[in-house]
Amino acid sequence: MGIAALQHFFTPSSVAVVGASTKPGKVGYRVLESLVRGAGGAAGSAPSCNRRIYPVNPHAPEILGLRCYPTVLAIEEPVDLAVVVVPAPAVLEVVKQCGDKGIDSAIVISAGFKESGPEGVERERQLADQARAQGTRVVGPNCLGIIATSSGLNASFAPVFPNRGNIALMSQSGALATAVIDWSVQHNIGFSKFVSFGNGVDVGVVDLLRAWEDDPETSVIVAYVEGLPNGPEFMEVTRQVSYKKPVIMVKSGSTQAGARAVSSHTGSLAGSEQAYTAAFLQSGVIRAHSVEELFDFAVAFAYQGPPKGRQVAVLTNAGGPGIMATDALERAGLRLASIDPATVAQLRGCLPEASNFYNPIDVLGDADAERYNSAADAVLRDPDVQAVVALLTPQAVTEPKQTAEGLAQLATASDKPVLASFMGGEAMREAIEILTANRVPNYPYPERAVEALAAMASYREWLEEPQDEIPRLSTDIAAVEAVFARARGEGRVNLGEMEAQEVLRAYGFNTPASKLARTAEEAAQFGEAIGFPVVMKIVSPDILHKSDIGGVRVGVQDAQQAQDTFELMMLRARRFMPNADLRGVSVQELVRGGKEVIIGSSRDPQFGPLVMFGLGGIYVEVLKDVSFRVAPFGPRQARKMIEEIRSAALLWGTRGERPSDIDAIVTCLLAVSQLVSDHPDIVELDINPLKVGEPGAGAVAVDARITIQEAAEVRSAV
Ligand code: ADP
Ligand code: MG
Repeated sequence: MGIAALQHFFTPSSVAVVGASTKPGKVGYRVLESLVRGAGGAAGSAPSCNRRIYPVNPHAPEILGLRCYPTVLAIEEPVDLAVVVVPAPAVLEVVKQCGDKGIDSAIVISAGFKESGPEGVERERQLADQARAQGTRVVGPNCLGIIATSSGLNASFAPVFPNRGNIALMSQSGALATAVIDWSVQHNIGFSKFVSFGNGVDVGVVDLLRAWEDDPETSVIVAYVEGLPNGPEFMEVTRQVSYKKPVIMVKSGSTQAGARAVSSHTGSLAGSEQAYTAAFLQSGVIRAHSVEELFDFAVAFAYQGPPKGRQVAVLTNAGGPGIMATDALERAGLRLASIDPATVAQLRGCLPEASNFYNPIDVLGDADAERYNSAADAVLRDPDVQAVVALLTPQAVTEPKQTAEGLAQLATASDKPVLASFMGGEAMREAIEILTANRVPNYPYPERAVEALAAMASYREWLEEPQDEIPRLSTDIAAVEAVFARARGEGRVNLGEMEAQEVLRAYGFNTPASKLARTAEEAAQFGEAIGFPVVMKIVSPDILHKSDIGGVRVGVQDAQQAQDTFELMMLRARRFMPNADLRGVSVQELVRGGKEVIIGSSRDPQFGPLVMFGLGGIYVEVLKDVSFRVAPFGPRQARKMIEEIRSAALLWGTRGERPSDIDAIVTCLLAVSQLVSDHPDIVELDINPLKVGEPGAGAVAVDARITIQEAAEVRSAV
């Protein structure tokens, strides 16, 4: 399904406004007026073409000189699009009539649906059912409407018509959308299409992404979303679309946390924010953190191509801003390009002696346009420079206008992106207009230019990265199901260490040899069999964190100690948790050395299974130094999860630390990814710690816990 599927929303030949009003203050009047005026002479927009417009109002003979119809059914000609502005209780009937009239597309602007309480929720459900049953595509309800600049369509009550451009915008919030249009006109930014989809009863983010995927008028897709109904579908479609054009999103509002009892480390660390971050990352979405950033990025992508790499030259006529830009560069993961000796020689030819010829290149405060642009020219030709951030502050002899003209020319001629920050108000106004008109984005502060450039660099890398192939490991699914069935049979959903390790073994994990001792004598005997020193741990489905009650002892040396430890642990457990179901004490092989990491999983209501990685131990919840991905994923993402945590250096083996077996961690992450994808009834899982040895030595899951759903689910077909 491409743009054709939603074509009547953007290029209708005829539009009915149901609920057109005679009163200028009313939305039903304003929408009609918008449609009649169309582009209304907005810069670069097509004039309102010969679109037929039919007001529908049973009580008025005509509005704005157009004949009114009592219902859509009374209109003699075919109608492509209906804009519905009647009060909420009348919407369903109107939509039915649209169906009878054969109208396949409707924008429901009316409010009074899911946003307004239980009655509205029911009304919205009926609208959804009705629209689906009769095959009408619906945008809304509770929205601002649609604008398509190239066809001069304004089917909205936005007060101004935006300029024509190549950014397509979708917004869940109508109010935000009006603010954005207003602002865009002021800053000379143009849109191809604009959809406020409100409650999104039918047409939503995924449909619009599909519609704009191959839209020749759109080169950048920008979205403001508050929630997503179908995470996996969203990820699949965005992944596909963002290979064709940048998709920039701001996600606001947190989804309800839900009163779910969380019993694992992972569960307490994995919120919806983590899920969105992971999902966006895995599907190529460029994430903005504010509406300001959304458009900072959008303009950069709309005007300039992404850089070939992260090497940036900063050009400035003042020291301070140059340093600010340099700091921002580092924070954003970009690098100052090293300037080629030939370029330095060239710069020496055109700059005064006191200038800085190395990055950041400072042409000094007394630079005129000619000096500034000769330097810009030299820098843009430098083979190591992949992008230029051009800063200008107004000083005594600065020539903002001429500098902008020259820089714009150079930027147009070069295939390297140039982002500007000409700082100042009135003194820079004209210069900034020249830059923008020539598609050189300008930012009020250097940091914002740098952030935008960094977003472009990441996008380029994403485009070039080979697909992450998801491997299929050979596993024993039936063994896992048997463990789950046994626990459910005992009325339990929490699997303790021994059961969880059994599950992990079925997915290729190494676990320490262990045996459950029910008596002190058995403990001693098993210790001999495994080989002292051993580890002893209390075993009870009711005890989640064994160390908390003194239920773990590492380094039990001999048979006598094993017996004593058994007695002591049972005694303590009975004292601290008198009602716990005590099964005994496990005697376990002691795994020496290595680093302790945590691998966990929890289930996100939007995106499904999330997998977490971090350095293990008791501080994990305090330090929150963890990374997440939506499962299933492949080895590339697994490796990135490891690289992403702040303390990753401890695993590479720097500063006297011994290196760890990264490949083994990757394998374990992939195994967990597959385990939780194969078994949707796993609610939470913690492997804490996974002990990781030196390269080649592998990893051992010395502790694990799993929580499952009460009832088994049908396994997803993989
Ligand atoms: P808890 O339920 O308290 O998390 P664990 O089984 O994780 O219990 O044990 C606590 C700590 O003891 C682990 O973090 C690890 O440092 C150490 N430990 C546990 N089992 C072993 C083992 N088999 N070999 C070596 N150390 C272990
Ligand atoms: Mg543990």
